[in-house]
Amino acid sequence: MITSTVESAQTSNPITTPTVTQTVHHQIVIIGGGAAGITTASLLFHNNHSLDIAIVEPSDQHYYQPGWTLTGGGVFKIQDTLRNQRDVIPYGATWIKDKVIHLDPDHNRVLTQTGIQIEYDYLIVCPGIQIDWHLIEGLKESLGKDGVTTNYSPRYAPYTWELIRNFQGGNALFTFPNTPIKCGGAPQKVMYMADDIFRSKWGVRQRTNVMFLSSLNKLFTVPEYSNLLDNIVQERNIKVQFRHNLKAIKAETKTAIFEILDDKSNVIDQVSYPYDMIHVAPPQSAPDFIKRSPLAVPNNPYGWVDVDSYTLQHKRYPNIFSLGDASSLPTSKTSAAIRKQAPIAAKNLLCLIASKPLLSQYDGYTCCPLITGYNRTIMAEFNGYNAKPLSSFPLNPLKERSIMWTMKVTALPWIYWNRMLKGERFEGEYIKFMQWKP
Ligand SMILES: Cc1cc2nc3c(=O)[nH]c(=O)nc-3n(C[C@H](O)[C@H](O)[C@H](O)COP(=O)(O)OP(=O)(O)OC[C@H]3O[C@@H](n4cnc5c(N)ncnc54)[C@H](O)[C@@H]3O)c2cc1C
Repeated sequence: MITSTVESAQTSNPITTPTVTQTVHHQIVIIGGGAAGITTASLLFHNNHSLDIAIVEPSDQHYYQPGWTLTGGGVFKIQDTLRNQRDVIPYGATWIKDKVIHLDPDHNRVLTQTGIQIEYDYLIVCPGIQIDWHLIEGLKESLGKDGVTTNYSPRYAPYTWELIRNFQGGNALFTFPNTPIKCGGAPQKVMYMADDIFRSKWGVRQRTNVMFLSSLNKLFTVPEYSNLLDNIVQERNIKVQFRHNLKAIKAETKTAIFEILDDKSNVIDQVSYPYDMIHVAPPQSAPDFIKRSPLAVPNNPYGWVDVDSYTLQHKRYPNIFSLGDASSLPTSKTSAAIRKQAPIAAKNLLCLIASKPLLSQYDGYTCCPLITGYNRTIMAEFNGYNAKPLSSFPLNPLKERSIMWTMKVTALPWIYWNRMLKGERFEGEYIKFMQWKP
């Protein structure tokens, strides 16, 4: 195969692009068959089943990632969080089982790893977020053994549970990185579950120092939820260290090295902690093929797809939309947010096709069910654009509730597989008239 090399603008590695072996055309091309891609495709088909939609997705498996927290907490097996990709792709869509490696929006085409050039009239970009394991020295080599784990990968979430349930005491560290991440609450949820298990075993919690080390300066972006969590960590005697960014894991000595940051994220010092177990939330950014493309937000180190915060249309390429974790939408990156973004992307794309104005607007809605223990959850719904709490239920969300734990472990996974991915209406809309108001 003859290859050419494209130098990346913002990433350090040059990439090799394959020779074009085949050219195909589809009216709508969706990059990524995850939560956002499948939901948007289903919604488009609900409106018009004759649309020609191709979904480019390399993986045979589709994961319900919110279930990884429950796997780490021993509630789900990892198999409970996955389905065959072929079973979630909506009827009528063409599945191109390949990976996009190059975007060429000036010529309305993308190129895949195996050399398929896909031309499109409209493009929806939702390949999710990239986990930048390499930014923490020693992490990749240490994961999955000797006390180092993460729920941010289906490979290691089962190991989290192994560590928690076998823990006999010592330093249990939980980290939050110095980048935006998907589900900002996940690094804490696992800690509260671990704390519950340590307390359930005779003498273990007394012998354990539970620490949350975060690059941020608060526990949550919404002040009302953050205040609740402040009380919870205090009650549980969990030590919180803000402005601490995990930089390296020294597996030989079981030591974690943290940079200490000032308010502008400048490194002002360094500190190390010994660990007996450490749960790492890794640094994250947009996938490299987006970072190095004209679709990325200019001069932004994370490289998100540069879309209008309300219409989800690309700021410079009107026939391109983006939603989900890879987009620049300035709200918390969750499946719950996608539940509200996907109908907007679908409606606005259909308006564009019909040469009508784009009137639908995303309002920043997102939700992070904050598990604070087995049988306790704060259903933290909020508007990510003004950081105000919301609720889809007739209940004050600023409270730990056992009913919300039941929602998290039973209703939400069911809704994801059976309603969200199938493009069904958001359940909260049926009871809008009785919802809690601040
Ligand atoms: C531990 C954990 C806990 C979470 N908890 C919650 C929660 O409680 N509530 C909640 O709402 N959300 C939660 N989330 C976040 C949620 O899972 C994500 O926000 C959501 O999956 C994002 O959807 P997406 O479609 O943007 O990306 P994904 O669902 O990640 O899908 C992206 C898809 O794109 C494909 N892809 C990648 N690169 C390419 C390429 N180059 N070409 C083509 N396809 C590509 C991938 O294979 C993947 O299938 C959690 C996530 C994690 C990891």
